[in-house]
Amino acid sequence: MRFFNTYSRQLEEFAPRHPPKIDIYTCGPTVYSRAHIGNFRAYVFEDLLQRHLESRGYQVHRVMNLTDVDDKTIRGAREAGVPLQKFTAQFKDAFFEDLATLQIKRADEFPAATDQRYIDKMIAMISALVAKGLAYQADDKSVYYRINKFPNYGRLAHFNLDELQSTGRVKHDEYDKEHIGDFALWKAWDEQDGDVKWDSPWGSGRPGWHIECSAMATALLGDQIDIHCGGVDNIFPHHEAEIAQTEGVTGKPFVRYWLHCAHLLVDGQKMSKSLGNFYTLPDVLAKGYSGREVRYALMRVHYRAPLNFTWEGMKEARESLQRIDDWLRRLRETAKEENVQRSTSNVQRLIEQRPSPFPLPEGEAHVREHGGEGTWRD
Ligand SMILES: [Zn+2]
Repeated sequence: MRFFNTYSRQLEEFAPRHPPKIDIYTCGPTVYSRAHIGNFRAYVFEDLLQRHLESRGYQVHRVMNLTDVDDKTIRGAREAGVPLQKFTAQFKDAFFEDLATLQIKRADEFPAATDQRYIDKMIAMISALVAKGLAYQADDKSVYYRINKFPNYGRLAHFNLDELQSTGRVKHDEYDKEHIGDFALWKAWDEQDGDVKWDSPWGSGRPGWHIECSAMATALLGDQIDIHCGGVDNIFPHHEAEIAQTEGVTGKPFVRYWLHCAHLLVDGQKMSKSLGNFYTLPDVLAKGYSGREVRYALMRVHYRAPLNFTWEGMKEARESLQRIDDWLRRLRETAKEENVQRSTSNVQRLIEQRPSPFPLPEGEAHVREHGGEGTWRD
C-alpha cells in the first residue's frame, strides 16, 4: 500500500512505526459555527481511510481535536453575549450530530483545546521553544515562533522564506514580530478577549491555534505519529507550524505521512456565504437527501481531486446508490435459491450484468496523472 505524502510530494510505501498499530491525528472543526459540507468532505475521507486500514487488519487509534478557543470562537461568543464554553458547546453538539448522520466513525478521542491539561502542555512546549531560542516574547507581550531559526520551515508547503516574504501569503498585521512570517504561539490578553485568558510565564493570554494541535497530538499520541490528515487549506500555515513547533521541541520527525484532502467546490466556485452557495449538512438534508446519500456524494471523487458539489451530482449519487442497492438485493435473492449450482450460475450472470454503479468521477484523469496510486475503482 502506498500513500501520496504531501511532505515529499511522492507516493511512498506505507510503513507504520508499530504495525499493526497506527496512530492518526486529524485536525477537527473550529466550533464557532456549524461545519459546512466542505469540512465534511475531509472528515468522510478520513473515515474512509480509517475503515480501509482496519479492513486490512490494522488497529487504528485516531485523535480529532476540537478548536474551542481562537479568534473566531472568541468573537462569536462576544457577539452572542454568552461565555465562550456555552457558545462553543452548541457547535460541538451539532458537529457530533452531523458525524452520526454521515455515519462517520467517531475518533477514539476528541480533545478540546481549552482543557487545562492541554493548556499546560501548550505552555510547556512554548517554554521549551523559548529556552531553545526558537521563540521570543515581543514588545506586544505575545510570544512568536522565530521561523528563520527552524531550518525545515517551508518543507511541507514547498517554499522558502524569501518567497514567503514576497508572495504576501502572510499578512503583515502584527508589527512587533522580528520576521513577517513569525506566528503567534501565545497571544497576550487584550480587552476583546474578555474573560477568556489563562496565566502563563508571559502574562495572561491564550494559545495560538497552531500550538493547540501540536500539544494535543503529542499529549495523546506521543512525539511521533504515523499519519496526519487535514484539508489542503491546512497545509500552510497550520501544518507547517505544527511541524516547526513539535520538531522544535522534540528534535524528532513529527509525522511519517501527511495526507491532505482537496477542496470541495460548489457549482464550480469556492463556497462562501456571500455567494449564497454555503451549505451545512442540515441544508442538504432539508432538500430531501439522506445522510447516506450525502456521504456517497462526498466520497465519489478521489480525495486528492477537487470535488464539485452540485444538486445534479446529488441526484446522481441517489441514482448510483439505488443501482447498487437493487443489485445487492437481487444478488441476495439469488443466493437464497435452493439449487446451489443454479444459484452460482445466476450470481455469475448477475455479476456480468451488473450496472456500472459509479459514473466516471470528475478528477479521475487527474488522479491518473499523478501516477495512479489506485483509483477508487480498484
Ligand atoms: Zn490542527
